[in-house]
Amino acid sequence: MRPLIAHIDTAALAHNLGVVRTAAPQAKAMAVIKANGYGHGLLRVAKALRAADGFAVLSLEDAAQLRAQGLTHPIILLEGFFSADELPDIARLRLRPVIHCVDQVDMLAKTRLDRSLDVLLKVDTGMHRLGVSCKRAPEVLQRLLGLSRVARVMLMTHFACADEPDIGVHAQLERFLAVQSAVGQSADRLSTTLANSAALLRYPQTHGDWVRPGIMLYGVSPFAGQSGESLGLLPVMSLESQIIGVQTVLRGEGLGYGFAFTAERDMRVGIVACGYADGYPRHAGTGTPVLVEQQLTRTLGRVSMDMLCVDLSTLPDAYIGSAVTLWGAGLPVEEVAAAAGTIAYELLTGIAPRVRIEEI
Ligand SMILES: *Cc1c(COP(=O)(O)O)cnc(C)c1O
Repeated sequence: MRPLIAHIDTAALAHNLGVVRTAAPQAKAMAVIKANGYGHGLLRVAKALRAADGFAVLSLEDAAQLRAQGLTHPIILLEGFFSADELPDIARLRLRPVIHCVDQVDMLAKTRLDRSLDVLLKVDTGMHRLGVSCKRAPEVLQRLLGLSRVARVMLMTHFACADEPDIGVHAQLERFLAVQSAVGQSADRLSTTLANSAALLRYPQTHGDWVRPGIMLYGVSPFAGQSGESLGLLPVMSLESQIIGVQTVLRGEGLGYGFAFTAERDMRVGIVACGYADGYPRHAGTGTPVLVEQQLTRTLGRVSMDMLCVDLSTLPDAYIGSAVTLWGAGLPVEEVAAAAGTIAYELLTGIAPRVRIEEI
């Protein structure tokens, strides 16, 4: 069997939820498990995070899978519903859709449902992605509260720059608090949810009633230049493979497609079973860190579809069968992402379906 495996440390997931609890002791934790649990497997992650107070996903299909496993947690649909057809299933499965535009309120108003729904009203406080404007929020809220199909409403927003120290959350938070006080006169105190991982860790004033950690649950720091380890997090996914071929490349000879690497001296090169069709970033050029038998070395030349090349100059004992860690325990995925000009989120969620996943 091809030796490439993504090992998932489910105990690390539970540990990282503990870090959320310590950082936000007063808030309930809605574990964000969209994108197949950030590439770690939806159901596997949900089970390992049973102790969370709720889950957040994108699709009705994902939510239905969680319910089919007997999970009774509150489940939030982060983009709500896309057509009114979905509302009966949302009600039957007791899901909580995010309402981010007036069209969704219209759909709700027109659809007959057997059961009333808890919903979230998403307010655009400055990111300008999804959400009703701060100005319209009080009026939309009143409309929602006037619908018999709506039981409770939670107020929600999302921060654009919680991980950027120069900008932070302050302007967006102020606008959110203004909306909250504007609606406070007409409605009972509404529960709130604002914080992603970065805000949760850096801005306790954003915790509200529910926090929405994603990336930190998977052991990854939301901050550039700060490791998950330094935040007390443990890596969850280790992408591991083996050397399946060894070459001696002579000085001046090229290696791999385009001869993107040329040997400066005679050297041993290991060929690793992992390529861009597995989700390893093709933009990772020569010098991307990689572990062979737990020792740090570098990739060489272009990543190909199914293979990549590593420098064995400092590893005379490495041979076919030697263990290779592409990222994970001992090599933070953030470092590989940085070398490839991307972020860990993209690498984790980009693991290809053909990669075997095993729990440890
Ligand atoms: C993905 C997402 C989160 C989680 O963000 P992280 O940066 O992974 O913690 C929180 N809230 C919303 C609305 C999201 O879409």
